[in-house]
Amino acid sequence: MAQTNLSPPSDFIREIIEEHLKTGRFQGRVATRFPPEPNGYLHIGHAKSVCLNFGIAAQYKGPCNLRMDDTDPAGESLEYVESIINDVRWLGFDWQDRLFYASDYFEQLYQFAVQLIQKGKAYVCSLSADEIREQRGTLTEPGKESPYRQRSIEENLDLFARMRAGEFEDGAHVLRAAIDMASPNFLMRDPILYRIKRATHYRTGTKWCVYPMYDFAHCLSDSIEKITHSICTLEFENNRPLYDWILDQLNLGSHPQQIEFARLNLSYTILSKRRLIELVQQGRVTGWDDPRMPTIAGMRRRGYTPEAIRTFCARIGVAKNENLVDVSLLEHCVREDLNERAPRVMGVLRPLRVILDNYPETQVEEFECPNHPQNPGMGSRKIPFSRVLYIEEEDFLENPPRKFFRLAPGKEVRLRFGYFIKCLNVVKDPETGKVAEVHCTYDPETRSGFAPDGRKVDATLHWVSADHSVPTEVRLYDRLFQVADPTGDEEDFTKSLNPKSLEILNSCRVEPSLAGAAPGSKYQFERLGYFHVDPQDSSAQKLVFNRVVTLRDSWAKISEKGKR
Ligand code: ATP
Ligand code: MG
Repeated sequence: MAQTNLSPPSDFIREIIEEHLKTGRFQGRVATRFPPEPNGYLHIGHAKSVCLNFGIAAQYKGPCNLRMDDTDPAGESLEYVESIINDVRWLGFDWQDRLFYASDYFEQLYQFAVQLIQKGKAYVCSLSADEIREQRGTLTEPGKESPYRQRSIEENLDLFARMRAGEFEDGAHVLRAAIDMASPNFLMRDPILYRIKRATHYRTGTKWCVYPMYDFAHCLSDSIEKITHSICTLEFENNRPLYDWILDQLNLGSHPQQIEFARLNLSYTILSKRRLIELVQQGRVTGWDDPRMPTIAGMRRRGYTPEAIRTFCARIGVAKNENLVDVSLLEHCVREDLNERAPRVMGVLRPLRVILDNYPETQVEEFECPNHPQNPGMGSRKIPFSRVLYIEEEDFLENPPRKFFRLAPGKEVRLRFGYFIKCLNVVKDPETGKVAEVHCTYDPETRSGFAPDGRKVDATLHWVSADHSVPTEVRLYDRLFQVADPTGDEEDFTKSLNPKSLEILNSCRVEPSLAGAAPGSKYQFERLGYFHVDPQDSSAQKLVFNRVVTLRDSWAKISEKGKR
């Protein structure tokens, strides 16, 4: 699976494009677009579409437009527009000067609708929404034609103009395409093209009280922008005949090819904007950029890199049938990327005091430690070592089971980059009975990490020097949902939220080289995982780290099993 070869990816969409290039269908042009509706933040599913559309455009040296598909005022906002712009750019893509808004086409779209009326291909229908639904028919029965289908072109033009002018109540009339009430495809049974809706649009304000439906606006926006390949997700397969019908009636010079691919579904993850909005609004997460969210903003804050997300999108590829991608593949891509770029440091999440009884009280040594085991180019730093240290609480057990290889009374372990230490005894908190400190001796002969007499130890522990370490907060994140398919529970998907998806640790200690670590920087804490200095909450006064991902790689295990 490793991406070692650099040949461009191939998939059924690229095959279609290659065919079009051969036949000259679009005169050798390839132009794509990414068309989000600004009614929420982008998530990892959108990233798949972003990588696909921008990737294809780059490969075939054509443009990829960023288009806000903002034709439904409900729920759309400038905040979402700004987040989308920010996220696509952060993912590493560039639309140059081609940021477009479907709402900029409102006048043109309206005129196209007028043209359809003039051609006798659209009519103003005055049935109520319920009546329209009732008369649509079923899978086995054709629908009924609307009694208003026979309105004259003049009457339709007049009514449509008055709809626009605000003479009618919301819902009093709609504009429908005159196609075929007997079509086996429901979407072709005189679909609604325009509706009256008094709502303030975040860009056009109250200028309009009629708004085009998705099916009308989308194909025409694509055509206006001279898109060649309009790539969308599978659920739009049935909309394709309508997409083509509208463009055919208007006889436009530019008729893009709609191509559908399977959307990304990710285990333990919800990728529905509607649901994500609920999580934000109900306060189940701290916001769209909560590091547990599958949003680009959340992943960025968590510490995922754009490179890791792009690699993930390349590896999952594009296909024509729905499947569920294992979230551990995404985590694997993050680990793989951070493994290369993150400097190694030491930090202790749950500190346990260790006192080296035979180490001189005022002595401090400095150990020169490489920042990356495989990459000397990343340099080194000095770590102070002294009499009182912290180790990880879970690395010590007073009464260890047989297979416990770490520190315990009478046992000897190695400290990373340092000496062997041997546990003599413990001091307990008189009130709680918990081990408060561990007393050890160190062997001055083992400074190299090895004993001159050749004796071996079972474990190497990470540590920090108590007096020199920097107190920090660390936020441990786990999956937001505890079931593989959280969408399965239609009733209340919040029931499958993982109550332990966030744990905040307040008494962590990190090595002094991290003092003042810049927000946004990423490190591997040895033996623990990758950590990201929170871009919002971390400051010189108070360091805050987010755990990006642990070191344990369940994907590697899964793919290893697959090979056997
Ligand atoms: P939702 O269905 O979650 O409410 P949406 O898919 O309607 O959101 P849009 O803003 O319309 O959101 O999506 C913009 C583009 O991203 C569309 O072309 C859409 O097909 C694509 N997209 C959305 N979700 C996914 C996904 N899970 N996998 C791949 N592409 C997706
Ligand atoms: Mg959509």
